[in-house]
Amino acid sequence: MPRYYVNMLMQPDGLHEVHKAGCDRFPNFEDVLPLGEFTDIEYAVREAAKTFPQSAPCKHCSRVGVLSKTAHA
Ligand SMILES: [Zn+2]
Repeated sequence: MPRYYVNMLMQPDGLHEVHKAGCDRFPNFEDVLPLGEFTDIEYAVREAAKTFPQSAPCKHCSRVGVLSKTAHA
């Protein structure tokens, strides 16, 4: 299962982005909180929301997931 991390730094839109390990837009390691391993980013966001209620999946990670699903369809 992939590992997920939440950015402890708030984005300009007020959200804390949840990233999958290996994401191209991954923040600095000193700025992230490890969430653990999850089957889906949705579960990682729920875990992140316990610490940062305004958490959201990183658009880049999410887009990669959608694209790979489309490619295999
Ligand atoms: Zn990301």
